[in-house]
Amino acid sequence: MSASSQKERIAVYPGSFDPPTMGHLNIIDRGAEVFDRVVVGVAINTSKNGVFTREERVDLLEELVADRPNVEVDSFHGLLVDYMDEKGYTTVLRGIRTVSDFESELQMAQANRLLKEHIDTVFMMTDANYSHLSSSIIREIISLGGDTKGMVSPQVEAALKAKLAPKG
Ligand code: ADP
Repeated sequence: MSASSQKERIAVYPGSFDPPTMGHLNIIDRGAEVFDRVVVGVAINTSKNGVFTREERVDLLEELVADRPNVEVDSFHGLLVDYMDEKGYTTVLRGIRTVSDFESELQMAQANRLLKEHIDTVFMMTDANYSHLSSSIIREIISLGGDTKGMVSPQVEAALKAKLAPKG
């Protein structure tokens, strides 16, 4: 076996995860089949006021992937490519649901390559069951008193209801 084939293949799956959904978990699981290790990276965006804090998102994700031995959860401030350089990671994993996802993902992947030429992005297409799922849709359903069973974990649903569900 050559030296390069022994190197651990690691993908960083970055996102807001506000909250993490079953669509995210699907990409994590499929990524964990293709890569030796998947690092889920919670992006802390100071200009975006989220529903969950960094710690809450990390906790919810850790609960979600607790029985996946080759998946771990981390968080980072600032540019993804700087975080990746610091840790020695070179592959980004992202999911695509729609044509509009494709456009923004293309721009982001190209911008990352301009910033750091050695960083590459791998895309996975959403499973049809999850193509309609987004964190913002989930937040909206819960804030209007709806049911998100099967779209997020029971823990995520409970945590979201505690924050967003209409009272009374
Ligand atoms: P961001 O704010 O960085 O887009 P998100 O948490 O919304 O973070 O999404 C993280 C990644 O997961 C993105 O690549 C997004 O396209 C992908 N993603 C989100 N929901 C789904 C889904 N239902 N199926 C496949 N990919 C998804």
